[in-house]
Amino acid sequence: MMGLLIGRYQPFHKGHLEVIRSILKEVDDLIIGIGSAQISHTLDNPFTAGERMTMISSALRDEGLAGRCPFIIPIPDLWNNALWVNHVKSLTPRFEVAYTGNPLAQRLFREGGVEVGVPPLFDRVKFSGTEIRRRMLRGDDWESLVPVQTIAVVKGVRGVERIRDISRSEKITFLEPGDASP
Ligand code: NAD
Repeated sequence: MMGLLIGRYQPFHKGHLEVIRSILKEVDDLIIGIGSAQISHTLDNPFTAGERMTMISSALRDEGLAGRCPFIIPIPDLWNNALWVNHVKSLTPRFEVAYTGNPLAQRLFREGGVEVGVPPLFDRVKFSGTEIRRRMLRGDDWESLVPVQTIAVVKGVRGVERIRDISRSEKITFLEPGDASP
């Protein structure tokens, strides 16, 4: 049986790796769908689809899981939720069960007649993209929450500096006339 796990992986962290291990006990093979593939260089989505693909493929290879996850596929968002499941299907090999923790994605798959698997959460407080991006911004420890391959990609693209630059420009963008200068 083929499964699909969809996520943004901003960035790919140890919780994602654990959920992949856990799903691989239920399916023969797993497609990794990289959601919001068209978005990068924002505070919520700092990394490109290519950078996220490199984080995931190198971690899976080093963990010996690459053979069970033969497809890592960028999936851009669609401004039409009702068509999204068919959009996902059009970009991926055939799958029997879609795994996602995202309530909207769960609902769309179910309404589209696709079986949904709800992956277990591993220490969600720590292992969360939001928490990791927050730590990067503040200069706190983030490296312990991600696989070494994610550290290599983030350092290779000066990702922490990128997030800090984005934070400064997003604040500037949203300043109203008359606000204190940044
Ligand atoms: P995410 O990176 O936050 O999470 C990815 C997966 O990993 C999720 O299933 C989540 O439950 C799991 N996960 C995260 N932390 C975990 C932990 N600590 N332990 C175990 N599992 C953990 O991604 P997301 O935001 O859920 O991704 C959904 C994607 O679907 C987005 O890209 C979204 O834009 C896309 N989407 C698009 C449309 C559309 O385009 N119309 C509609 C619905 C969803």
